[in-house]
Amino acid sequence: MQLFDSIEQIPRAGKVMATRLKNLGLLTVEDLLLYWPFRYDDFSQTTPIGELLPMTRANIVGEVAMISNKRSFRRKMAITEALIMDDSGTARAVWFNQPFLVRNLKVGDKVSMSGKVEEEYGSPLMQSPVYEKITGSTIHTQGLVPNYNLTANLTQKQLRFLVSQVIGLAKTLPDYLPESIKKDYSLIDLARAIYQIHFPKNQGEIDEAKKRLAFDELFLLQLRSQIIRRELKHLNAPAIIFQEELTKKFVTDLPFALTVDQRKSAWEIIQDLGKTTPMTRLLEGDVGSGKTLVALLAMINVASNQAQSALLVPTDILARQHFVTLSRLLTKTDFKVALLTRTKQSLSYQEKAGKKEVLKAIAEREADIIVGTHALIQESVKYKNLAMVVVDEQHRFGVNQRQALITQTGGVDFAPHLLSMTATPIPRSLALALYDDLSLSIIKTMPVGRIPVATKIFKDSEREEAYNLIRAEITKGHQAFVVCPLIEESDLLGAKSAKAEYDKLTNGVFSDLVVGLVHGKLKPKDKEQVMSDFVDNKINILVATAVVEVGVDVPNATVMMIESADRFGLASLHQYRGRVGRSAEQSYCLLLTDPTSPKGFAGQAPPSPNVTSGFGETKAASASGYGVPKETSKAKERLEAMLKFDNGFDLAKADLKFRGPGEVYGTVQKGFPELKLASLFDFALMNQARTASLKILDTSPDLSKFTALKAKLGEGEETNVHLE
Ligand code: ADP
Ligand code: MG
Repeated sequence: MQLFDSIEQIPRAGKVMATRLKNLGLLTVEDLLLYWPFRYDDFSQTTPIGELLPMTRANIVGEVAMISNKRSFRRKMAITEALIMDDSGTARAVWFNQPFLVRNLKVGDKVSMSGKVEEEYGSPLMQSPVYEKITGSTIHTQGLVPNYNLTANLTQKQLRFLVSQVIGLAKTLPDYLPESIKKDYSLIDLARAIYQIHFPKNQGEIDEAKKRLAFDELFLLQLRSQIIRRELKHLNAPAIIFQEELTKKFVTDLPFALTVDQRKSAWEIIQDLGKTTPMTRLLEGDVGSGKTLVALLAMINVASNQAQSALLVPTDILARQHFVTLSRLLTKTDFKVALLTRTKQSLSYQEKAGKKEVLKAIAEREADIIVGTHALIQESVKYKNLAMVVVDEQHRFGVNQRQALITQTGGVDFAPHLLSMTATPIPRSLALALYDDLSLSIIKTMPVGRIPVATKIFKDSEREEAYNLIRAEITKGHQAFVVCPLIEESDLLGAKSAKAEYDKLTNGVFSDLVVGLVHGKLKPKDKEQVMSDFVDNKINILVATAVVEVGVDVPNATVMMIESADRFGLASLHQYRGRVGRSAEQSYCLLLTDPTSPKGFAGQAPPSPNVTSGFGETKAASASGYGVPKETSKAKERLEAMLKFDNGFDLAKADLKFRGPGEVYGTVQKGFPELKLASLFDFALMNQARTASLKILDTSPDLSKFTALKAKLGEGEETNVHLE
């Protein structure tokens, strides 16, 4: 077997298993090796059965003395009962609805079991313990056992088994970290780290592995950012001369006064634009803080310098909305806006313009500001004197997309100024440590007169109350969003659940109102129609998926109802809540908890052995290892954080606390670079990684002396970082 072989080729894996692993983004043997566990069960301590204490968790090793199935008529389920014996005593174990167990475990088998101990008539009883037959080697119930994030129909046992089949191949992965760095920072080899993270003998081995792999993440991040910084120093950007008169007049004509932070940020940007080295600035401001306007002030300065700006946004809904907003804000000026997405092209000054006209308007600099999605990066788009690129909702884009835009629009030694905008609160110190190439502007104050959004959690049984609130708001002439989650990372599923909700509302409680539906699978034309109907208040309630998560600005909407809110991360919940509260009216955010969650909202965690996260802290037993997607108690805390905090900064802090590094694996932690093991708040390690990366680049600026490292940097997302 080789690293690039598909998972299907692993002995006993097969097609079905391969498909399931694909849901986790794992396609090849290498992917599997690089899929880190998020915690470990500690089976290293076993307790003699005679010494078991009730109300503790324990691991035992013994022999099956008896095992049989019976039916419980009262509770209508199959019960499997076993007696486990060692030299010191006997314990009873029971499992529910797993009658097949009697075929796996036979009298005389040696087993290892783990779970919560109870007492029954004076003898120990374990309910639904995790068990493993001890044959030769035990990977499931002995020592420190890894737990991975799972997907439907995949068990920890299966995943561990697959990893154990291919772990030997870890040594064929090139160790890209230069020897000198490994020596300087006492880091173990890559292959060893990979082995130890999957199959550690003790906590010390986990720590060693984690240190090496976390270092790698930060080191690569630093290296990349250093390279970009060095490149930018050699590039030229057009100097944009500040147009004071024009800017003042534009600001005076606005229907509101700029906030102090908007002014300050705009001024910082305009000063950068005046230089001939390309700007790379991040504009950070909470949802609704008015970042668009700041970007627009920069863009009109660019335009009156006879140059173009491009505004890159993640969704076509957002592109259209920005196009409309900017066109409206610019009606009193001569500046022209173009819209370019894969499905829609428009010009602010010419009705019925098609794709050809729009491309021509861009090429001839008829259009001053070009708003669009990825379509802006396509080869067929020719800009004329593009001086600035603005990336809205920066966290939605990979490094490669931003870089592609610069590469495509820049020249050999030329690059446009770059302004990224994000609502993700990255502390200044962190941003500087992370991105050496970045300057930062922060909008802290919100526009005056905003009322905090009233947020409330509803159980499924209190749904009625939530609907009443929606109705009351609509009676006042306002509108509501109802957001449904993507159940898995499949648009199709998400669309289906929103669709079901839409049907339910239209035919049921809101049959007298106009309910609309928008999701990612709709035809672009239909999507546009629904959104514009909603903006025009022709739709009272809009049932939607994640397509409305970022940027959407419909001030008349005052209710944001989020279905299965416990399935969303805090960053997303905050973004959704940010869709309302955009006017002087009181707005509401209604968080509905998920009735289909397997254990209910405040359910009990299943029995589980002592759990160490592998990363130092000990946690309450989690459900994750047993096929339940989320820890319900955490979900509850997360929702409660939404009640406690109304700004993104506090929420992000709370979020990091709940999740801890390494736990977000497989989910997109928006706005932060995707780190699997490293903590963004580990400043010591971050500094080491920074020093190391500077040293490497000083030794070999083009990395020609470190071929494996160069190849590693060029992988995947980062292909567009060029090193020459
Ligand atoms: P975000 O920072 O989330 O992108 P937007 O740029 O969409 O926020 O602005 C949110 C809303 O606030 C818009 O309707 C915008 O017109 C309005 N707005 C922006 N600046 C101000 C201000 N200084 N005073 C009042 N309203 C403002
Ligand atoms: Mg915005």
